[in-house]
Amino acid sequence: MRQIVLIAALFVSTQSNAEVTSADYTDRWQVYAHELLRDSVAFKSVRGEKQVVPLVEFLAQKFLDGGFPSEDVHVLPLDSDGEPVAALVVRYRGSSASKRPILFLAHSDVVAAAGEWERDPFVLTEDAGSYWGRGVLDDKFATTILTTNFVRLKSEGFVPERDLIIAFTGDEETRMLSTQFLAQDHLELINAEFAFNLDAGAGRISEDLKPIATFLQFAEKMYISFTVTARHQGGHSSKPTPDNAIADLARAITAIHDFDFPVRSNNETRTYFAEIGKLTDGELGEAMRRFAADPYDQAAAEFLKGQPEQVGITRTTCVPTLLSGGHAENALPESATLTINCRVYPGVSIAEVKQTLREVINDPAIEIAAVEEYLPSPASIIRADIYPLIDAAMPEQYSGVPIVPRMAPYATDGIYIRRAGIPTYGLYGMFLRDGEDQSHSNNESLPIDRFYEALGFWYRLTQSSSAL
Ligand SMILES: [Zn+2]
Repeated sequence: MRQIVLIAALFVSTQSNAEVTSADYTDRWQVYAHELLRDSVAFKSVRGEKQVVPLVEFLAQKFLDGGFPSEDVHVLPLDSDGEPVAALVVRYRGSSASKRPILFLAHSDVVAAAGEWERDPFVLTEDAGSYWGRGVLDDKFATTILTTNFVRLKSEGFVPERDLIIAFTGDEETRMLSTQFLAQDHLELINAEFAFNLDAGAGRISEDLKPIATFLQFAEKMYISFTVTARHQGGHSSKPTPDNAIADLARAITAIHDFDFPVRSNNETRTYFAEIGKLTDGELGEAMRRFAADPYDQAAAEFLKGQPEQVGITRTTCVPTLLSGGHAENALPESATLTINCRVYPGVSIAEVKQTLREVINDPAIEIAAVEEYLPSPASIIRADIYPLIDAAMPEQYSGVPIVPRMAPYATDGIYIRRAGIPTYGLYGMFLRDGEDQSHSNNESLPIDRFYEALGFWYRLTQSSSAL
């Protein structure tokens, strides 16, 4: 998944004409990465196609061919609600057992390729300076880069100072059961001092390729839906009663829509608003800076509430998303049900959200039920020593770019890894222009030059992080 920050006002509109192709990247490991990305995209690792396990076995073989001993390459199959999937865990043994491992996280499944595609989504195509295909961004660039760099470092005789672990989950886009399987049943395989998750935290560059910021995702809001149901004994519609399931529910809908959850912040979200506020013009930038300086500044919080990209970073949100009710046009409705989707701020419990909804609806006859039980995930405290490490691994042209902590308003594998006690930092190591983020949509693409920049970035960061 991705994060999008609205800072379009900063961009200067100049198009780059230079078209980059794979032929420009002839280094042995760049060729290896290109072929691995091509072969990985060809696996339809979407739900229903049963291709996750073959892809994972294919990737596992790359590590074995690269000299990793079979006892350090684990293919962990499981049933993900009817879909056979597998997680892959690979351990790169370090020289010292006194330092705890570092975990590198990505996922091998992709979102279904619905909609109209201009090119075959499961054939890696090169066009207009980009690679095209389902998963090139989300998240096969990451499985490709991590695999290539582990195999490369092994071939170069690199010995990390601590164990480095790769974990690829197999159903991040759907059920995340493989993630829970790793975090709960196989924690000994992935337990680490901290994790980098290459499924969040993109860098932003302007239209003319000037670096703006790179985001480091340290927390994710929890996703939970509730049903809100009003019931009534029903009857003939010619004999109306004072209460009516649809009318009762309508009052509840209005109350939920009009309610704002209390403003919240933490050190990292305040840093986010301070940093991104410096880079943002106008009223929005001012509100960001004021909120960063004083999260009790009501006017600033109120302004941010009106910004769909920012509101979720300032509070829990719940919105009505689905509606059903009644059973015949000439009958009093026996029930009416609303579904509301909530994005819960780290540190807020589901019970607390449910209780708040109960108070807001203020009608004891209305039932509220969680659609599924989800567990809260803590925010990860960002270690100060991570920033210089990331900066030093950047390609030269991005050196010194602000690294901005970011709380994502959506969920990835990181929620379960954080719950398992492993601080997790979402970082792509890849820079994108506004509009280049096409993950989950049709015509997903990835600028070729940015892919190879990220390959080099992770090559350097993999080595330097082991020496922390
Ligand atoms: Zn993803």
